[in-house]
Amino acid sequence: MPLKVQIVFENDAGEPAVVQEVAQIERDVFSPATLGLTLEDAKGILRGLQRHLVTQQIEDYQQQQLTCPDCQQPRRIKDRRKLVYRSLFGKLQLQCDRLFHCDCQPQEKKSLSPLSDLLAERTAPELLYVETKFAALMSFEQSAQLLAEVLPVDEQLNAATVRNHTQQMAERLEAELGEERFMYIDSCEWDIAALPQPDMPLTMGIDGGYVRAIKSQSDPKQPHHFEIITGKSIADDGSSKCFGLVNSYDQKPKRRVFEMLQSQGMQMNQQVTFLSDGGDTVRELQLYLNPQAEHLLDWFHITMRITVMTQIAKGVTFPDDWPDKDIGLTLESIKWYLWHGNVFRALQAIDWLADSLYTEDTPSKHGKLFKKVEEFKTYISNNQPFITNYGERYRNGERIATGFVESTVNQVISKRMVKRQQMRWSQKGAHLLLQVRTKVLDGDWRETFERWYSELAAQAA
Ligand SMILES: [Zn+2]
Repeated sequence: MPLKVQIVFENDAGEPAVVQEVAQIERDVFSPATLGLTLEDAKGILRGLQRHLVTQQIEDYQQQQLTCPDCQQPRRIKDRRKLVYRSLFGKLQLQCDRLFHCDCQPQEKKSLSPLSDLLAERTAPELLYVETKFAALMSFEQSAQLLAEVLPVDEQLNAATVRNHTQQMAERLEAELGEERFMYIDSCEWDIAALPQPDMPLTMGIDGGYVRAIKSQSDPKQPHHFEIITGKSIADDGSSKCFGLVNSYDQKPKRRVFEMLQSQGMQMNQQVTFLSDGGDTVRELQLYLNPQAEHLLDWFHITMRITVMTQIAKGVTFPDDWPDKDIGLTLESIKWYLWHGNVFRALQAIDWLADSLYTEDTPSKHGKLFKKVEEFKTYISNNQPFITNYGERYRNGERIATGFVESTVNQVISKRMVKRQQMRWSQKGAHLLLQVRTKVLDGDWRETFERWYSELAAQAA
């Protein structure tokens, strides 16, 4: 039983005017694999439908253009040019009319190409949307492959195209970001006092991570890694937004963070708690953004470090005369002191642990643990002013960490950018991808596209 798929164009009276064949489907055997449409059938039908629909739309549009909008006199066709347009449902070769301007109005140029001007981007907005959304979540290569697998997209859609489109859309986002300022607290105290009662505090977690840099041909001394700063702000109702930036590349880091806080409804009289893993770049970024800010060391980062040391300690065997055989217990007490904000006692215990691990000829595992403990000591000493009584805050229902389940770095950076060792990034490429990725993770990407292409929203409604 051969089946024909046809498209019927009706005239104004609702009668069939033009019938075009879209596809033919034949089935010899009946099996689960031949029941209904195959992916290839579906792609063929979509490709055919798209071609006929577009041809019809283009014909109608260009027909309208033949009349001068000012005097209603006909405009003459100068010539016809080919235009390639890429859509979600295939690459389209369009015949594009160039028309002579009507001389009823003075014109700068002799001719015009209405269709070519209208389709200036040469790629359908929805294709751009889908390409960039996938690229935010998986590699450019995988995104191209996935789209080609399920949709009748252009056969030439490849990783490079997806990367270029992602960068273009990210640059569009970047162009919307306002100027950088040193300080974002510009209201005076009177203005702040006059603001309505704000919502509950916002919590903002800021964190840093590293990705591998592409090898530079011109500069062999260029670092192999560069730093990415990422963060997440959590409102009292649990809703969150994230940001990411390449610190050495970004010209407007504070503006970026400020806008994100604003998008969550931050008022200048609202309390914002910044939680970070310490570090100068991270702390520098969060200053001067809000007059009611408090800055704390994120409890998540403290416990992560203690967990790492506990794991290493489990693999270490100690001789009988070792002073502190139950290192796990000591680490547990350090955690306890820190939980209550008792930095003094915590540092004493860390010191004692470091001393007990130090030997002239440290065996490798002791040595590794010793190094971690020393690092931890520096970390706690440097961040002393930002360590609080976490236990008390916790009992008061205040937030003490942004990532109990998973760190923001892992969510925003690692899963997309360091998953495979061979992934290398330029600073610009990484920064731009992060702009799209954070929008996608926040669930704001479609909305952004609909703001850019309002007809996309109208069609979806
Ligand atoms: Zn005219």
